[in-house]
Amino acid sequence: MENPEETINHKPLLKRRKLLLSALSTGLTAVAGPLHSQLAQTDAKVTKNSVQNRSDVGAQNSTLLTLFLCGDVMTGRGIDQVLSHPGNPVLYEEYMKSALGYVQLAEEANGLVPKPVSYSYIWGDALTELERRQPACRIINLETAVTRSEDVQEKAVNYRMNPENIPCITAARIDCCALANNHVLDWGYSGLAETLSSLKQAGLKTAGAGRNIREAQEPAVLPRGRGRVLVFSFGSETSGIPFNWLARENRPGVDLLTDFSPETVLEIRKRVTSIKRPRDLVVGSIHWGGNWGYQIPYAQQAFAHQLIDDAGVDVVHGHSSHHPQGMEIYKGKLILYGCGDFLNDYEGILGHEAYRGDLTLMYFVRLDASTGTLVGLEMAAMQMKRFRLNHALADDVLWLKETLDREGKKFGNWVELGADNTLTLRWA
Ligand SMILES: [Zn+2]
Repeated sequence: MENPEETINHKPLLKRRKLLLSALSTGLTAVAGPLHSQLAQTDAKVTKNSVQNRSDVGAQNSTLLTLFLCGDVMTGRGIDQVLSHPGNPVLYEEYMKSALGYVQLAEEANGLVPKPVSYSYIWGDALTELERRQPACRIINLETAVTRSEDVQEKAVNYRMNPENIPCITAARIDCCALANNHVLDWGYSGLAETLSSLKQAGLKTAGAGRNIREAQEPAVLPRGRGRVLVFSFGSETSGIPFNWLARENRPGVDLLTDFSPETVLEIRKRVTSIKRPRDLVVGSIHWGGNWGYQIPYAQQAFAHQLIDDAGVDVVHGHSSHHPQGMEIYKGKLILYGCGDFLNDYEGILGHEAYRGDLTLMYFVRLDASTGTLVGLEMAAMQMKRFRLNHALADDVLWLKETLDREGKKFGNWVELGADNTLTLRWA
């Protein structure tokens, strides 16, 4: 650990908490700084009505494929500090000067975190759900750089995880990390380069960021059964990604969409059709929109529709919001507008409690593998506590159901609460 002497800022707790909203991944507050792609699982036979097996061939000759999707996985900062190889804890945030401060905040809120934690600790009950459901692909938005770089960018918040802690990602057998987000370049080009090489070395596929625009635009290719899942990762300035993070021919960066225009859709269509084969499924993972609120901007909805109508995208995997947003089934295809946060060090940070950012969802998306049509969506509700994902309590699952029902109304969908607290999407 570098700078072990660094201590947290000892301002009075209340004052710190009052100011801590700025410590969240506040996309829109980000300020542009100076800045100069294993498990080839095969489909498994399942009996009729069985929904639990890893990518399943149905009894009626239909091939089903289950994807696990979630929102932001932020294993940097406080989380990094409780893992076996904490990186330099120094922060450059206005009110917090050490990542250890976030460990303290979480412990003050929910009790001691057993340090160091095992690499699987942070996933907690999510591992049980993954084991039970055996999704064919596990896709996350990795909301942190993975680096020791000290090239801090001028932003309100900069996330990094020590590359030696990468087993905390592989512990959940994640297949693919979407990287086109507002934190992957928090530690400059050197940080991005180390992030890419570290993930690759760990056998993780990535999309959305690269050493040049060609790499940044390349989808992650996940062979599954007789087909493949292609994951494209896009970012939008609306999530707070600085415009100068846009990758160019000779400049590292992210696959940043400059707008949601038909021209942009056409350009994505060209990229999809150049690689998509008949049995492939396409996930369009997109970091867009602000952190709080349920309103889906018309531009986002229209763009999601066009991705499905014109660009060959089968699932729109949206994220950036710190809480789950509404979902839409459009022409049989799934649009997740905002998956919400999934795993982070935000415990004890006050300010938007009404949104219940501590509650997170695991999305198990069952698709007809030949058409990409949504067959079913089950969600397992989790709550982040002591830097660990725990099954959400019954009252909290009910709260999520009511929230998703409310937000689903405008899209003609609702959620059924099962006896095991599983939330199942229903649509008209
Ligand atoms: Zn973000």
